[in-house]
Amino acid sequence: MINADKIAQLCYERFEQLPRRGKPEPGREWTLLAAVVKITRRADSDTVEKEVVSLGTGTKCIGQTVMSPRGDVLNDSHAEVIARRGCVRYLIQELHSAVSGGGSSVFCLADQRGKWRLQLGVSFLFFTSHTPCGDASIIPMTDSQPQPCPPVTSVKEHEGTDVGGDRKRKAEELSEGQNTKLACLVEQGPIEIKAKGPSDRDGVHLQIQDIHRTGAKCVPGGPADPLQSGAGYHSTGVLRVKPGRGEPTLSLSCSDKLARWAVLGFQGALLSHYLQEALYFSTVVVGKCPYSKEAMQRALVTRCSHVSHLPAGFSVSPPLLLQSRLEFPFSQAQTELRHQARQGCISPCGAAISWCNVTEQPLDVTANGYKHGVIKKIKTSVIFLHVCVFRSPLCKLELFHSFLSLVSATSPSALPDSLRKAELQTYWDYKQASQSYQQAWQQLHCQAFPLWPRSNRDLLLFS
Ligand SMILES: [Zn+2]
Repeated sequence: MINADKIAQLCYERFEQLPRRGKPEPGREWTLLAAVVKITRRADSDTVEKEVVSLGTGTKCIGQTVMSPRGDVLNDSHAEVIARRGCVRYLIQELHSAVSGGGSSVFCLADQRGKWRLQLGVSFLFFTSHTPCGDASIIPMTDSQPQPCPPVTSVKEHEGTDVGGDRKRKAEELSEGQNTKLACLVEQGPIEIKAKGPSDRDGVHLQIQDIHRTGAKCVPGGPADPLQSGAGYHSTGVLRVKPGRGEPTLSLSCSDKLARWAVLGFQGALLSHYLQEALYFSTVVVGKCPYSKEAMQRALVTRCSHVSHLPAGFSVSPPLLLQSRLEFPFSQAQTELRHQARQGCISPCGAAISWCNVTEQPLDVTANGYKHGVIKKIKTSVIFLHVCVFRSPLCKLELFHSFLSLVSATSPSALPDSLRKAELQTYWDYKQASQSYQQAWQQLHCQAFPLWPRSNRDLLLFS
């Protein structure tokens, strides 16, 4: 029913239409793209409408020391996370319109007091230009299974100086690519690269038994990667934290987050107050890149398929997994193909773009978790960093404020039961009061992801 190529094309075109700001410099910078597509099947016709409602780009994640207790910074700017948050903005606006009598193309009233549900025929699909970081990126490489992505044959190979470590290192960047240094190392020559790690010793066996690697490290407190050569380098099926700028992050890999959304929904705790049923992505489409259906299945589906005892409104809802043959023009591989020596080192684009289908400020460009351009301009007066004009509308605080304005717009008689407590004040309070969501999370946590770090309450007490 779903044509993966058409979905990819729709998302690439939507990106194309955005203004220049925050986009990668062609041939030098690359980025990752993700999007949420609303699918509407009309009962009275055979046609299916597809609309990109949220789009995100980005490759960065901030370290834990710069996380803010005010909720005003974007901790995780991977494209997938940006796309989900933009979609939450869009859904808040839809609900806002619905509760104010303005109608919605997404929601209709459900039978429980104050609750809404998806209209018949409406569903959401998730697109990502690349295999999500973390577990899904640990992909077997074999001779019999040629990699879909051309640059597995490295730059150096064409020059007749191929060294296994180089190729392997190269493959690692391709599958993940959050480390800015790697592209430069490749430019500098294979010898330096060869000496980089224990994994690079036996290059000759590469093609027989190797894997694409992830830069995302296992979460603390659990088993670590064996780091053996070839296929024994990684453990599979484990939770991983995202690689940050040198220092550890607290953000889980996109593979882990997608797996979580397939049980808890992608709407988050706040919107769960208003929804009778969690919202699940019906399908996940990945663009052309190193990809393994088995690894995707393991990372996104199998790890949670046994979870039971979920409260009403929640279910284990794995997405259909599809891959497109169309590659994102700003992927790392495409950038390398177009790169010219005079352009300097290839690097991931530092900015993250969010666009979503909302009336106020649909476009948002950030760097380092704040509005783009702000950090550089006022580096000397750090005090201004927290003035609201620099916050992204996607940060926790802004999403919380949008949610609170939805609550204010809801007439008291139409308020969901979970929001009828007088003592709710902070972001933390509102999240905790979302009881079914918290119960579902409890089940998922103890049955599938006991090592998933608990959120730090001190960082969530803003209002
Ligand atoms: Zn990621």
